[in-house]
Amino acid sequence: MNVYDSARMADVLAPHGYRSVGSPDDADLVILNTCHIREKAAEKVYSELGRLRKIKTARDKNLNPMLIAVGGCVAQAEGEEIWARAPWVDIVFGPQTYHRLPEMLASSQRKEAVFHAEFSAEQKFDLPLQINTSASTSEYLTIQEGCNKFCTFCVVPYTRGEEFSRPSRNILREASQLIARGAREVTLLGQNVNAYLSIDEYGSKISLGELLFQLAELPNLERIRYTTSHPRDMHKELLDAHRQLPEVMPYVHLPVQSGSNSVLTDMNRRHTADDYRHAIDQLRTARPDIAISSDFIVGFPGESEADFLDTLTLVREVEYAQAYSFKYSARPGTPAAIMRKQVSEDEKKARLAELQNLLRQQQISFNKKFIGKTVSVLLERHGRHNGQLVGRSPHMQMVHVNASDSLLGKLVQVNIDGVDKNSLSGHLFTDKFQQPKVTN
Ligand code: SAH
Ligand code: SF4
Repeated sequence: MNVYDSARMADVLAPHGYRSVGSPDDADLVILNTCHIREKAAEKVYSELGRLRKIKTARDKNLNPMLIAVGGCVAQAEGEEIWARAPWVDIVFGPQTYHRLPEMLASSQRKEAVFHAEFSAEQKFDLPLQINTSASTSEYLTIQEGCNKFCTFCVVPYTRGEEFSRPSRNILREASQLIARGAREVTLLGQNVNAYLSIDEYGSKISLGELLFQLAELPNLERIRYTTSHPRDMHKELLDAHRQLPEVMPYVHLPVQSGSNSVLTDMNRRHTADDYRHAIDQLRTARPDIAISSDFIVGFPGESEADFLDTLTLVREVEYAQAYSFKYSARPGTPAAIMRKQVSEDEKKARLAELQNLLRQQQISFNKKFIGKTVSVLLERHGRHNGQLVGRSPHMQMVHVNASDSLLGKLVQVNIDGVDKNSLSGHLFTDKFQQPKVTN
């Protein structure tokens, strides 16, 4: 979501003469778009600000002075602390205010207070995109922001505010613009993307499933993905979209966090481990080859060894294609941060290592199943080696293949002959005339 927001910031600033550059060294303005989800992410901001201070003070006096802005969720949550710890910062703004960047820049010399979120994401959306720039083959598109679920460990409801779903027609318009600029895959984003719900101009309710059906009609959109979903919001239309639409990729990121019911209750997830198993069963019934990914937190306050074993059991049952896992990080202002029975750092570390080991084995076995198979790959960029292009399979695996640049942005068929934990490799499937099989 920060990648999407950063691109929109560039769009907002373009009419004011700003363009993106590759390094902060000669930039007139540096914006750190920050993440507050775990302590480590938040602390990185201060070390980065230290680095920027040196560049700012060493700036040749004949050049424009460098302005430093801190945006995103750390700015929202710790604005005053940023001013105190890094007084060389010029602008601090929350994640729902970037549409006001030009105005902030105009007043930045006066060091105004933090630009806090107005707590509706509504205003910042639907700013004009930079129509002259080309889009990447695969683009993000935020359709929903914020969260009303208040899991006890999570800062998102406080930093991103209330759930807001963009009107479907604005999403369809933005998707069409991205396609016109060259995108072939769109990933719909939301903190609770499957809680998406809007009302269209005819007064009908549009859920994520219905939105997928509408997007699938757009010409030249080959692939649609969405992330991140919540197990409580797996609705029938979404399952129908997986069952019926070839454009909707067979991959779902469905975080469970823990396999223990008592931990899930303390997390205020409002679903049990069995509810989650049921959601997975429904997805697999709708689309048997669907790949599942998840997020896990180990060492949530009060998590016992038995609770942790419940998580391992669930992982063994589900068999994940890939997953992210984290040590619980106490976040100021969240209920879990002051729960008694915090788990020791050593235990968290040991549990994370065990869980990650199991998840790694599952990812490797998942990838190995593709050896000898032909998969469709949307080629997105150059690889590290000469003549190599990289793209993704329908199941989100990175695939390396030797292919000519003319195939960038195309869907090709690839015979898989190599596998490691993070990626697959193969060669182009060719017909008897040695022509690669290209689908668009
Ligand atoms: N809305 C999504 C998750 C958004 S946050 C959901 O409900 O699943 C992304 C991930 O960061 C979470 O799934 C969780 O695994 C992790 N996370 C959030 N807060 C955390 C914390 N305090 N400590 C460790 N991991 C955390
Ligand atoms: Fe955070 Fe996701 Fe829970 Fe919302 S549903 S509070 S974003 S973990």
